Amino acid sequence: MSLTLSKKAQAVKPSSTLAITAKAKQLRAEGKDVVGFGAGEPDFNTPENICDAAIQAIREGHTKYTPASGTVSLKQAVSKKFKEFNGLDYGVDQIVISNGGKHSLTNIFMAILNPEDEVLIPAPYWLSYPEMVKLADGVPVTVTTKKENGYKVTVDELNAAFTDKTKAIVINSPCNPTGMLYSREELQAIADFVVEKDIYLVSDEMYENLVYGDAKHISIASLGDEIYKRTITVSGVAKSYAMTGWRIGYVGASAEIAKLMSSIQSHATSNPNSIAQKATEEALLGPQETVEKMRQEFDKRRKYMYERISHMPLVSCLEPQGAFYVFVDVREVVAKKYKGEVVGSAARMAEILISDFNTAVIPCEDFAAPGHIRLSYAISMEQIEKGLDRIETFINSVE
Ligand code: PLP
Repeated sequence: MSLTLSKKAQAVKPSSTLAITAKAKQLRAEGKDVVGFGAGEPDFNTPENICDAAIQAIREGHTKYTPASGTVSLKQAVSKKFKEFNGLDYGVDQIVISNGGKHSLTNIFMAILNPEDEVLIPAPYWLSYPEMVKLADGVPVTVTTKKENGYKVTVDELNAAFTDKTKAIVINSPCNPTGMLYSREELQAIADFVVEKDIYLVSDEMYENLVYGDAKHISIASLGDEIYKRTITVSGVAKSYAMTGWRIGYVGASAEIAKLMSSIQSHATSNPNSIAQKATEEALLGPQETVEKMRQEFDKRRKYMYERISHMPLVSCLEPQGAFYVFVDVREVVAKKYKGEVVGSAARMAEILISDFNTAVIPCEDFAAPGHIRLSYAISMEQIEKGLDRIETFINSVE
């Protein structure tokens, strides 16, 4: 047998968001004054009480293996949070703690998919979903949403994509990259569809604490017993508690699915970091004021970004209601010429912005949204002002 490689692994696209963030970091290390709108993580430090809990955990010897799917005490904390914050009843046997939300999602797809099962993914989507589905031998099916519907999928669109191979739908609210939030009515319609078709719904609620204005986060599994049974709810501490590096995500699901996910995890990684698990208990059970402070700071930046972008020529965006991203339609810009050449794509626009304007943005081709870019406001107000000035200068220079 020759030295061939896995076809499945070779079919995986490396994450372009991480690549652009790395490029911005590299240029900064070279001394360039780069504004990075690529950030997928809060710019705040992890709150002090959470760090203290981790230090105490080390000192108290919580440094050994824990049960593979997480400690009982953390599962109890997650169960309480599900109950009080989301209105969901998940017992400890229905909860799995993993190495970040990405790991939780990967485990979910491995637990529910058989070869060729299709998963409906409303687009624009977070770019990891299709790759995760493929790694679990499933088939990702892109369901393109419309701007006039706030980039939220409708039952008609789901119906059109549904086949006898459809196994699950992914709903991400608040959404990365669009910043949109599904209302109760919209979720109810999707829930009715899921129950009628008798399929799974993977609900990615990673940004559930970062919701602004009058919008309210609703967990779809809380809408009734039938949808609860079919939903797998995912969240984590990365975005809400500025804990991206700690790598803790968690899932609430049926005990049957949780058991399968635990078995997979027990062989793949064993337990998530024991110290981070202790820190997560403090995050979920301790004071929540710092989360609210971060949310308010994001909200100020969100309003500023929306206001500025709305007044720029050739681009447009909807007012984001959640997460920390503004999703910008740049189709008119890419149709124009820069230095005598048609820009052509959001990817090319991102290249020009980084090379000629020291500004990193995320082109959304890999989010199934060509002609769009994602700007994160998880950076300081000063950086935002500077970066938007540069983007505006670029837009004013196209013809
Ligand atoms: N879900 C969404 C929509 C995300 O944007 C991310 C991170 O970027 C995750 C899940 C995974 O988060 P983590 O693995 O950092 O916990």
